[in-house]
Amino acid sequence: MKKAKELQEKLGYKRKNFWKEFPKETEAAFDFCEDYKKFLSTCKTVRETITYFTKILSQKKFTNLDENDAKGKKVFRIARNKNAAMAIIGKQPVSTGVNLVVSHIDAPRVDLKQNPLYEDNTTNLGIMRTHYYGGIKKYQWMSTPLSLHGVVITKEGETVNISIGENEDDPVFVMPDLLPHLARKVQYSKKIGEAVDASKMNLIFSSMPYIDDDEDIKEAVKLQTLVLLNEKYDITEADFLSAELEIVPAGKSRDAGLDKSMVLGYGQDDRSCAYTSAEALFEVEHPEKTAIVYLADKEEIGSEGNTGAKSIFILDFISDLLKHNQEDFSSANLRKTLIKSQILSADVNAAINPNYPSVHEKENAVHLGQGVSITKFTGSGGKSGSNDANAEFNHKIMRIFNEENVNWQIGSLGKVDEGGGGTIAKFMAQHGAEVIDCGPGVLGMHSLYELTSKADIYSAYKGYKAFFKKG
Ligand code: MN
Ligand code: MN
Repeated sequence: MKKAKELQEKLGYKRKNFWKEFPKETEAAFDFCEDYKKFLSTCKTVRETITYFTKILSQKKFTNLDENDAKGKKVFRIARNKNAAMAIIGKQPVSTGVNLVVSHIDAPRVDLKQNPLYEDNTTNLGIMRTHYYGGIKKYQWMSTPLSLHGVVITKEGETVNISIGENEDDPVFVMPDLLPHLARKVQYSKKIGEAVDASKMNLIFSSMPYIDDDEDIKEAVKLQTLVLLNEKYDITEADFLSAELEIVPAGKSRDAGLDKSMVLGYGQDDRSCAYTSAEALFEVEHPEKTAIVYLADKEEIGSEGNTGAKSIFILDFISDLLKHNQEDFSSANLRKTLIKSQILSADVNAAINPNYPSVHEKENAVHLGQGVSITKFTGSGGKSGSNDANAEFNHKIMRIFNEENVNWQIGSLGKVDEGGGGTIAKFMAQHGAEVIDCGPGVLGMHSLYELTSKADIYSAYKGYKAFFKKG
């Protein structure tokens, strides 16, 4: 009996529960997530995340590669207030290949349309029209408190930062859902994905009219709204046309569960990886290989645009690192550097959901609280659209994690043919580097309140640190 058990342990694979197997690190995991929650609560948008890191990077004595006096081993670059790269030059030349962790700092949300404000002539309410961004389940966004974040650039070219709905005394906004009593025909007869259509996702913005004692004015609520906006932000309706204004869930990230072992908060896909990879980088003193953290934008809409991972930004950054380190920065040498590089595509994975276990396959799914997930491939159907990491690199990462006592598990995204999704991995792999997906599991991914385990957030941080140290 005893022998059989020994053999099972020796020959079999079993995930390790962090709380059971790493009891000495419980406190560290809880402590780590205190600042993590603050980060999530502060950084509700891409721009706010960049503002946060700009501040931290200067505190950590990183110098801006775009400033003439950039010097030393710790450098960074910010582009268009939407993406960033930060690096610590290694003991070995940059051209021996870099160790890069890439994550994305955009999250599914609801944007305001370019011409958003109108007064509804049935209800005389001030309304904002919207256009959703990324893969959302639209019904989740109805009848829940929302905040408004973003920038408006005025006629004079001044950027006005807007954030309404996060402070205790701020107002919040809502897109009201239909009451169940009257939903029979309009909603209940439809498929869930069609029950709330995009044209119903209008934000109630205001309700008081402009009062003019002398005459009855048309669209008085809209006028009063513009008056208030002008008083507070010095903007006019035309300024909306170029603005970027985003609606996200209002409020802070919180502890979840009676034992407080989890975190509930918006945007953990994928700011959990942005935060943990940056914290890991800040802990690396003198890496052998150059260590880079890359924060990309627009992953949720296919990594498009000049701030998405398909753009030239990261190649240009690595090229400038070669130059900064007084190495050959020709395009040929950049290509060779990329091919010799190793990349963790740091993104969350779907943890097995106790309410819907049937969409996962237990032995290959990610389990909450059992460590950071190493995901060989994503995609859908017959692995279509996936990077599918090489066994040799996959093994190397597992070996490093074992050596550094990182709690990790394997994970895949759902049952075969159940659905699917992709990450940045395949775009990075186009440059020839070794790439594998690696990140914590999430319950309720892409919902307004995503759930993670503190064990997995902490293990992701430890994993990225181990990669920078030994990769
Ligand atoms: Mn993601
Ligand atoms: Mn996502």
